[in-house]
Amino acid sequence: MGKYYADLTTGPAQGKKTAWCTSVGPAELLRALGFNVYFPENHGAMLGATRMAADLIPLANARGFSPDICSYLTSDIGSYLKGESPFQKMKLPGPPRADVLVFNTNQCRDVKDWFQFYAREWKVPCVGIHTPRSLGELDDSIIEDVARQIQALVPQLEPIAGQKLDPAKLRAVMEWSRQCTDLWKAVLETAAQRPTPITFFDGTIQMGPAVVLRGTPEAVDYYCTLLAELEQGVANGTAAVPEERFRIYWEGMPIWGKLRDLSTQFASLRTAVVASTYCNSWIFDDLDPADPYRSMARAYCRLFICRSEDRKEQYLEQMVAKFKVDGILYHDAKTCPNNSNNRYQMPQRLEQKLSRPYLVINGDLNDLRLYSEEQARTNIEAFIEQLAER
Ligand code: SF4
Repeated sequence: MGKYYADLTTGPAQGKKTAWCTSVGPAELLRALGFNVYFPENHGAMLGATRMAADLIPLANARGFSPDICSYLTSDIGSYLKGESPFQKMKLPGPPRADVLVFNTNQCRDVKDWFQFYAREWKVPCVGIHTPRSLGELDDSIIEDVARQIQALVPQLEPIAGQKLDPAKLRAVMEWSRQCTDLWKAVLETAAQRPTPITFFDGTIQMGPAVVLRGTPEAVDYYCTLLAELEQGVANGTAAVPEERFRIYWEGMPIWGKLRDLSTQFASLRTAVVASTYCNSWIFDDLDPADPYRSMARAYCRLFICRSEDRKEQYLEQMVAKFKVDGILYHDAKTCPNNSNNRYQMPQRLEQKLSRPYLVINGDLNDLRLYSEEQARTNIEAFIEQLAER
């Protein structure tokens, strides 16, 4: 990961062009075109985890970005305006400037608005894919439309990259991406074991290479090592949470600035947060090197975040069964309605269907002014007591 960030900043001096990319694609295409691929959402998460966000968000607000919109966006733009970034903690100057910004609206509209700010600022192109949302059945017409949009990016990106897309390179990148995603899935599925050797909080850190390095052999090597370690842990009965008593599913965004506090609290309650929609969002079962455009389209449309309420519900039902979950925690992230699934009665419907209690925590991914630590702590304690009574 350190090398990835260092290469990002040295790449331009070596003649590499930089493409900013949304976290869920189309990274494979950009990597195959030889770009330095940079993921601003990853920078957003770093701003949250280092607790720099709350000081930076007001700068973006002052430029007209509402405090109610994505706090990755506002903290990242605030970071740019102030010239302060977690990159500097790594002795690197800061995020690389984009030669092109490439978005996919499969997750939200905010990413496009976010990228367009920089496109205006630096007078560089911003191109992307407009994916339909609330998808039920993924029928061929949707997949064809998205696949054509991905393919249409190629002639726009080639002159910026300064090279033609080599189909063999695209296939190789897709193959690495596929292997990375399969391994990442296997890593997360070790948590189906009781006791689990890994929790959601570990996952939020371990997912780094799946986000920023998928499509490279380094990510594949990393997850081979991690998986072997976890499988050994399962064989030895190693518990991520000693004397594991309860198992929780985390639905929604992480609260980046509170990972440590929350993981410590859950561990003290002998409760393992075993699975999450968030960490699973980087599993792309559909990627197929033999059919790159259609398979990318299918992979990036199958994401939980752009599916219909019914599909989301079915997915959560399967996850609860697979990971033997006792209860579901919904994080209602104030500035990300797209990743907050408690707002349209889903917790109540699933509780009735699955007989599993739920808890809603109000907070935010980055803006800790929207999170009450005391209230969350008390509510989590009461929730675990409720599980114990059952
Ligand atoms: S999905 Fe949510 S957190 Fe991610 S970029 Fe969109 S609004 Fe921000």
